[in-house]
Amino acid sequence: MLESAPLLQSERMSISFHVDSTSGKAHRGRLLTPHAEIETPVFMPVGTVASVKGVPQDTLEELGAQIILGNTYHLYLRPGVQTVRRMGGLHGFMAWPRAILTDSGGFQVFSLNELRKINEEGVTFRSHLDGSSHFFSPESAMEAQIGLGADIIMTFDECTEYPADRARARASMEMTARWAARSKKYFEEHKHEVPWGGNAHVGTDAFVRPVDQGRTNASVPTRSEQTQALFGIVQGGMDRELRRESAERTIEIGFPGYAIGGLSVGEPRELTREIVESTLEHLPADKPRYLMGVGTPEEIVEYANLGVDMMDCVLPTRAARHGLLFTSEGKVSIKQARYAQDPAPLDPNCACRVCQRYSRAYLRHLYASNEVLAQVLNTIHNLSFYLDTMRRVRHSISLGEESRFLSSVWSRPKPGTQ
Ligand SMILES: [Zn+2]
Repeated sequence: MLESAPLLQSERMSISFHVDSTSGKAHRGRLLTPHAEIETPVFMPVGTVASVKGVPQDTLEELGAQIILGNTYHLYLRPGVQTVRRMGGLHGFMAWPRAILTDSGGFQVFSLNELRKINEEGVTFRSHLDGSSHFFSPESAMEAQIGLGADIIMTFDECTEYPADRARARASMEMTARWAARSKKYFEEHKHEVPWGGNAHVGTDAFVRPVDQGRTNASVPTRSEQTQALFGIVQGGMDRELRRESAERTIEIGFPGYAIGGLSVGEPRELTREIVESTLEHLPADKPRYLMGVGTPEEIVEYANLGVDMMDCVLPTRAARHGLLFTSEGKVSIKQARYAQDPAPLDPNCACRVCQRYSRAYLRHLYASNEVLAQVLNTIHNLSFYLDTMRRVRHSISLGEESRFLSSVWSRPKPGTQ
């Protein structure tokens, strides 16, 4: 049932990254993690509470999702880190054999909690579920993420609000740098506590056993000897110099991958692009570069062209639940009455199981009737569209071409059904 072939690569400790081809600033590469090999640039669907809303794991596999995200803040509050740990970590708990990345919880602590209190030690916040009081520090955020057991985890950072003046952005960036050093120190001391291997793999036999059974050489590490990879996060608000300094300080601490955080927080899109482009110049190209929390289909192509290797965004899944669908012919708001008797597929150029089977009229009816199936099918299509978009980007890079989302995909002649 599960494709376990990529899971047998156990001869490494955390991750490794290989760039196979380049086109302009864009890289096509492979990121080897303890649970899967990931082709980059990659789009990572968001599974906030260990679930990509509405989409079963076998469907995610069919769509070609190589790595998904979990949110530490939400999982820490419910079901709790110990529960997930006892189930073998997120891989075992949610029966997902491929790669997982968790954020540090920082972004949600800052964005979902108006009553938070921040000091050098960490952040006190109230649960959005029941109002109970909690505390996250670099150390406790690492402890939580080690317990959740994702392949890639993130340092605890402060996401600088927008707008922020320069003094505020500097102070925030400097605290993020100090927290990054504390995150790494705790991680290095505790990274072997990750809940993989041994007897921890409750419910995960399908993907854990092949590693152990295939072990013929005692010198080859089992997954229990592998560790997670901790990525650093660059902050610095919308100030290019602060971003440069943040990148340098984060690189000095030393991580196997680097993220650009604190963007898509309300700033104009041109500014996002400018900060991404300038920050990338200061990040090593032989390490994966992860742009957090972006973007539209056009934007993910644009950022891949700039040299970003990894991206995540709630947009395809969230928009789908609101009936907003991304297609090769542009955005479709499926709730519109004009689709009520439209027999055409949602996207005639999409090979996903939704477009192969259902009409716009049916999808519109499901949405108008508030059927759960509307959310499921809409989400499957949108994720398929994002993942296909990145597949095309990788193909273009390997051909040495720049990916042009608008000209190569969206400007195709419309079929006769329009
Ligand atoms: Zn489709």
